[in-house]
Amino acid sequence: MSRFAEPMTRLIDELKKLPGIGSKSAQRLAFHILRSSDDDAEALAGAVRDVKAKLRLCSVCNNITDVDPCVYCSSATRNQRLVCVVEEPTNIAAIEKTKHFNGVYHVLHGSISPLNGVGPEQLRISSLIRRVENGNVDEVILATNPTVEGEATATYLSGQLRRAGFVNAVSSASQSSVVGSPGVWKSFPLPSLMLKNAQEGSSIPTKAGPTVVAFNFSNLQILGETEH
Ligand SMILES: [Zn+2]
Repeated sequence: MSRFAEPMTRLIDELKKLPGIGSKSAQRLAFHILRSSDDDAEALAGAVRDVKAKLRLCSVCNNITDVDPCVYCSSATRNQRLVCVVEEPTNIAAIEKTKHFNGVYHVLHGSISPLNGVGPEQLRISSLIRRVENGNVDEVILATNPTVEGEATATYLSGQLRRAGFVNAVSSASQSSVVGSPGVWKSFPLPSLMLKNAQEGSSIPTKAGPTVVAFNFSNLQILGETEH
């Protein structure tokens, strides 16, 4: 038999389902909620309800949003033809922090990871290729994470984008491994500069058609931190 009254046991059991929350933490949180004011407890319950009821994925970029299309995809001041591909919605915040990117996004919701059973078909890749094939995109920045999985995802995407007509692929100068045939890859300044230049449209070569830029996402995060 449980040591706690049924509602308390139920709350503890639900909290235990959260990542990183074991039995002890779940009990501690449950007792905190029990002791909190009715208003605070209701606010927590309401926030949990709203996050499920009101948030969805943007039908264009897969960002988490309460309006569809999301604020980026519906912005008239952003360059809708410059798409930065990220693994998770949280990556967008890091890029926005730099204040140097004025394009839009595409969220994959993960990275290719055969060890964890995640293949390309589990990611939001087909909708990216559709955006490109529809002729709505001039440049794609591959901002996957600097991990084995992130690199593998960028490599896979490069191939897919090339097949979709993105022939003029550009890699960051900071990257040691250059993916793709040597003739179509050009070196590029550091990612921080690249984002600025991408915004100003001054340094990304556009002659040979649509462009793909790949870079190391960690550099971008460092830029964001040093500027604030
Ligand atoms: Zn969107």
